[in-house]
Amino acid sequence: MAQHFLLSAAARTLSLKQVFSMGEDRAYDTFCLLRWPETDGEAVCPRCGCCETYSISTRRRFKCVGCYHQFSVTSGTIFASRKLSFTDLLAAIVIFVNGAKGVAALHLSRDLNVQYKTAFVLTHKLREAMAQEQRGRVLNGIVEIDGGYFGGHVKPENYVADRKDRRLKANQSGKRECVVIMRERNGRSLPFVVANEGDAVPMVRDHVGTLATIYADEGAGWDALHAGWETRRVNHSVAFMDEGVCTNQAESYFSRLRRAEIGTHHHIAGPYLFAYAAEMSWREDNRRVSNGQQATMVTEAAMAAPVSRQWAGYWQRAS
Ligand SMILES: [Zn+2]
Repeated sequence: MAQHFLLSAAARTLSLKQVFSMGEDRAYDTFCLLRWPETDGEAVCPRCGCCETYSISTRRRFKCVGCYHQFSVTSGTIFASRKLSFTDLLAAIVIFVNGAKGVAALHLSRDLNVQYKTAFVLTHKLREAMAQEQRGRVLNGIVEIDGGYFGGHVKPENYVADRKDRRLKANQSGKRECVVIMRERNGRSLPFVVANEGDAVPMVRDHVGTLATIYADEGAGWDALHAGWETRRVNHSVAFMDEGVCTNQAESYFSRLRRAEIGTHHHIAGPYLFAYAAEMSWREDNRRVSNGQQATMVTEAAMAAPVSRQWAGYWQRAS
């Protein structure tokens, strides 16, 4: 049997040992290089685009020759106002990409000896950067579409006599949400969070090319797709695959997301569901990429992502 990718040496190109032995200066250089790849890591003013800067090297800050704007390597990025050292940030990214089913914030807080809140916000910033990469994506070729329901679990009462029929809407929590995944065969994926599976049809319109062939299951919500695309269906009450038509790649994505929810995070609150859905989509798409390359991609995405509206000063807010 062929060796699984994660068992091969090619999957391991960066270790924590390497990160910590590179020291703060080299970690800092790595961030500069990924923030300003066009100039080989030389600072570029984020305000006016000027390439000439005075370097205030003791504080790792720059001052623009043109407009006197002062900035650092993380100014204007998702890591703006960072307090962690660059080595810690890089280590956090390596630990984060190494978790195939995600990494719990508590796990990261123990690994780096930082507060839970720090780790929680940091991992969410990484998720936001990952999601940024997927924005505006248009899928083509064979695109598998499927939905999976998450959240809203209602515990049964202790005594059987007190138990309610949890299939009835009145006895549900109303917190259940549907993650819809669109996934190209051997390609990229794109997640959405909606109330019901069929609500994702407008998103399909925006993100799937008209020449694509869509594979979906028997869910009635997908009937509307036949009007816009060549759509083929597989009836899961009959078979998982019918004449080559299946949604197994989409199911594979849900497998990862469910394992992350149950095994790693134990609970995912509704407002954060999309963040985890996007993270798992990124992990599925890059599952055959070495961990060093993955760490570079996440750092690059973080340096290209703007200051987070959701996560900047998250715990300082009143509400
Ligand atoms: Zn400037």
